[in-house]
Amino acid sequence: MTIERVHAAREVAGELGVDLLVLTPGSDLRYLCGYNAHAMERLTTLAVPQRGEPFLVVPRLEAPMVDASPAGALGLELLAWDETDDPFALLARTATARLGAEPTRVGVGARTWAEHALGVQRALPGSALELAGPVVDRLRMVKSAAEIEELAIAGAAIDRVHARMGEWLRVGRTEAEVGADIDAAIRAEGHVGVDFTIVGSGPNGASPHHELSGRTVEAGDLVVVDIGGETATGYRSDCTRTYVVGGSAGADVAEWYAVLKEAQRAATAAVRPGATAESIDAAARAVIDQAGWGEHFIHRTGHGIGLDTHEAPYIVAGNDVPLVPGMAFSVEPGIYLAGRCGARIEDIVVCTDDGVRTLNDGPRELVELPG
Ligand code: ZN
Ligand code: ZN
Repeated sequence: MTIERVHAAREVAGELGVDLLVLTPGSDLRYLCGYNAHAMERLTTLAVPQRGEPFLVVPRLEAPMVDASPAGALGLELLAWDETDDPFALLARTATARLGAEPTRVGVGARTWAEHALGVQRALPGSALELAGPVVDRLRMVKSAAEIEELAIAGAAIDRVHARMGEWLRVGRTEAEVGADIDAAIRAEGHVGVDFTIVGSGPNGASPHHELSGRTVEAGDLVVVDIGGETATGYRSDCTRTYVVGGSAGADVAEWYAVLKEAQRAATAAVRPGATAESIDAAARAVIDQAGWGEHFIHRTGHGIGLDTHEAPYIVAGNDVPLVPGMAFSVEPGIYLAGRCGARIEDIVVCTDDGVRTLNDGPRELVELPG
């Protein structure tokens, strides 16, 4: 970790006319300075003014945690506040002194708590607050080689969990029981935390974000398993496979599943520098539309991934951002038949200098598991 990312953020903010960045605990803060702070009511923030040195405002009781984190080695000035101090006034006073005037435009993180954003606004009444997203996303969207390797490690870890699915996903067990075993395996296979566990069996598979329920898996069920976690470095995994348990899926399912598989393949194959995010979505959608299943593909094709599971670039109609080498995102078309079942195939892919690299390897066929 170096101070380089903080300086790069200041430079992009300058280009966009943002006088001051205020980033609270979350992935933006961790990305820029390596401090994986926990969000709470006490204000912790990295402030990056256009002039003068960037600084951290932290509760005094947590100053040792900053020092112990990678941020401690960056030489960032640390302004510690005591329990009865007003941290917003400290932030406003320091930033205004460095800028020589109250800032005009202040960029705050998209996931900054409202009580913090409103506190900043009260302390800087002459400033207009806006989202810092256009500044930090421009940096975070394009991953370094080291970040891609972290995502590859996360991808291989979640692939190992999917490869073991037959140990847990069986007829007669509830989604919740299966999910508990998957959660343990996500941690055992190289993650420090579980982000989400979706086990959508039978009709529940038609609800893309269904998580877990008490429903018992029945013979012949299609089961959508979409799982992901966080590795020690903060990078995320996210991979979906669809299984058929204790029976065969039938000819009608095989027919539309083949369409889905071709859509996922076509969208992945379309990834290359210069292609737009929306063209990847269109590549998946065209296959499903042409086969007559378009009304059942009810979500965008994918999302960027890094220190957050969902981040820019979003692979959706209307996003004409051109892909550049280093962008990492999911390709995850699905077909959902309300009341019956659903299927989704999801890989994380990376745009490379001449095409695409896929970070998940498991079979994309409908995986048949014995009951
Ligand atoms: Zn997913
Ligand atoms: Zn996803």
